[in-house]
Amino acid sequence: MSRIIGVSTAERIATGLVEDHKLVGKLRLRDEDQADEPLFSTPPAGIAECLADEVAAVSQGTKIDAVGIGMPGIIRDCIIEDSPNLRQLKGVNMKELMELALRARGIPAPAFIHNDADVLAAGLAATHGQLDRMIRVWTLGHGIGFGIYPPRPGIWEGGHVVVSLDPRERYCGCGGVGHLEGIMGHRAMRLRFLDMEPDEVFENAQKRDQRCVEFVKLWHRALAAATANSIHLAGPGKFYISGFNARHLELNLLNQYVHEMVKMSPLQSYVFEAVPSSDEDAVIGAAVSAAQSLATA
Ligand SMILES: [Zn+2]
Repeated sequence: MSRIIGVSTAERIATGLVEDHKLVGKLRLRDEDQADEPLFSTPPAGIAECLADEVAAVSQGTKIDAVGIGMPGIIRDCIIEDSPNLRQLKGVNMKELMELALRARGIPAPAFIHNDADVLAAGLAATHGQLDRMIRVWTLGHGIGFGIYPPRPGIWEGGHVVVSLDPRERYCGCGGVGHLEGIMGHRAMRLRFLDMEPDEVFENAQKRDQRCVEFVKLWHRALAAATANSIHLAGPGKFYISGFNARHLELNLLNQYVHEMVKMSPLQSYVFEAVPSSDEDAVIGAAVSAAQSLATA
């Protein structure tokens, strides 16, 4: 049985030992508020050092077969091709940096880097007994992530699909016009409503503030549009919705909008499930993804 350490960097750094798709022992959490330096202002080698410290703390000198890490951005063959929310990582060979940092701590295991939303999809598939079928996940956080399991060749930057033709929709972190993240992303919502926090926007919509009511409709329509596009390209199926802003989701409204957008009968069997943000699912997914990379390496 392989012993793999999974690391999630989604909302905070979480690290755990995974055997046979299950977490062994406790999850180790790094508190971002108490860390010396937040991740977004740390250079790539520093990020690798920090993650390797977490891995070393969990492995405690025992033998490890691989390390799997979920990170934001377009990641192919463990190289971060772009990462709008961690810009310093653009073009970085994170596998190389990570393995260097691990060796310095006496850990000779190979490291595998995957997109954080794909890692969460793998984790949800593993913990929900769905490793035999296709699942997709939207992560509603600072940015918008889109993960797909099993992994398939391609880019799959679902958070940046175009859901609006309005040229004024330009709040996306990547700079693109009309993107899903430009409407739903936490950072984008703060840019749009300079006078209130995203949580207040949703609260004020409940109190019938018209500007907020309209925005909450747009927010749901945007996710419906992106999902409908995915259904028309890859077929129906299960869509999980996670991330800290998933708490604002009204599934009835989302279903109503998708129903208006998807009319062909073979495409009707889609299902949404909101899942609480779980470091554990992400850590397990990072390990599952690493195990699959290890098997095909
Ligand atoms: Zn974008």
